[in-house]
Amino acid sequence: MIVGCEKQTGSYTTVHHSGMAATCNANQRTIEATVQAYKMTHGGALPASLYELVDGGQLGSYPRCPEDGTRYTYNPATGKVSCPNHPRN
Ligand SMILES: [Zn+2]
Repeated sequence: MIVGCEKQTGSYTTVHHSGMAATCNANQRTIEATVQAYKMTHGGALPASLYELVDGGQLGSYPRCPEDGTRYTYNPATGKVSCPNHPRN
């Protein structure tokens, strides 16, 4: 029982660490969905930057990585969002 608890604690640390990446990737997908929603309502045009989504109220503030607050990068040509800390394939 005690051993089981220790194992859980150990794995919790690992899960917590990788959970940050999972949260970050989920954030990126959410932002991209917001970009697509913008595109739908702007005649197929992508926002020039994520600041347009902040100014338009679609995003509450400029999105940042939950790990250390790094700002996400956005490609206005593709509408893709990426994090320097947690790149996705
Ligand atoms: Zn990140």
